[in-house]
Amino acid sequence: TTRSVGLLFGGCSGEHEISIASARAIAQAFSLDSNQAAYTLLPFYIQKNGQWCDGASAQQVLASGQPLASEATDTPSERWHLPPTVAEVDVWFPILHGPNGEDGAVQGLLKLMQTPFVGSGILGSAIGMDKLAMKMVFAQVGLPQVNYMGITRAQVWSNPCVHPKLCDEIEATLAYPCFVKPANLGSSVGISKVRDRTQLEAALDSAASYDRRLIVEAGVVAREVECAVLGNDAPQASIVGEITYQSDFYDYETKYTEGKADLIIPAHLPASITTQIQTMATQAFTAIDAAGLARVDFFYVEATGDVFINEINTMPGFTATSMYPQLWAASGIPFPVLVDRLVQLAFERHA
Ligand code: ATP
Ligand code: MG
Ligand code: MG
Ligand code: MG
Repeated sequence: TTRSVGLLFGGCSGEHEISIASARAIAQAFSLDSNQAAYTLLPFYIQKNGQWCDGASAQQVLASGQPLASEATDTPSERWHLPPTVAEVDVWFPILHGPNGEDGAVQGLLKLMQTPFVGSGILGSAIGMDKLAMKMVFAQVGLPQVNYMGITRAQVWSNPCVHPKLCDEIEATLAYPCFVKPANLGSSVGISKVRDRTQLEAALDSAASYDRRLIVEAGVVAREVECAVLGNDAPQASIVGEITYQSDFYDYETKYTEGKADLIIPAHLPASITTQIQTMATQAFTAIDAAGLARVDFFYVEATGDVFINEINTMPGFTATSMYPQLWAASGIPFPVLVDRLVQLAFERHA
């Protein structure tokens, strides 16, 4: 018997377009002979305004790769209803990145539907999305991290300017350069690297416009390496990959402009460092209660041999050229097999 996979993509997040690209790659993997016998794909597209579309309109977005224009005619409560076809889904594949899709919101909905779904549940998703909660959990299990400060929007916005005492404290604690980030985002949206007080004020103001919770981190000069994790209770780590680029840091433009960043797989690292990164990756996965998949990002300081964990992403980019599937392909699990494995892990976890 074939099972129906509900491919859920798009979403109310700044990473809407990336979700569409990931969904297209996954849909293609389900259309291959090996998977077609086992699964029927049912696409569900969430428009930027939150409206769910099934059937022909979802297929159209998958085929074209272009978002559907949202019409702001209805009120949110009129707009939000589930298409009746959700009842036909045996297992969900929510390939949604960022707020609402990767933070536990959609996971809670799918849990209430009592249908298995790919990836982390509410807790793992929520901790993985919030950089402050994530860092507290990582610290608790002894994973090394750069120094940081947690800040709230209310602390930043003191009329009529960014609070000078707050800037004094950041300078005294972390010095320059430092990174200012909204706590709950991805794809480097809202992140700034700052080198002086003027830039710090602007960066805090900007990050506070994205999120009530902010984080400021000491900047580290390091190689950027990433490890993919797959599994539930006994998660496996992939080989390690490295990202190289010419820009100031791995910002949005560098991530998504063709040719601006290179993925080196496997990263050329001492064997002991590779092992250390793989161990830290599965520790991080377990610490936040992740499930199914996650990509864990690290800083490797070559001069001192230090490895710092940067973050975990519980629903990493999933296009054919994204780091997560590429790391598994290079570790012996080709893209269509990976997709099938993730669906199996969803059933296993639900059982
Ligand atoms: P993703 O798209 O991986 O979810 P994100 O939006 O969660 O990214 P981070 O991974 O936290 O953002 O940071 C984005 C990039 O900013 C990093 O890949 C790195 O280039 C740079 N960066 C972030 N924090 C630091 C730091 N403390 N020191 C040096 N570089 C940093
Ligand atoms: Mg992230
Ligand atoms: Mg992310
Ligand atoms: Mg990252």
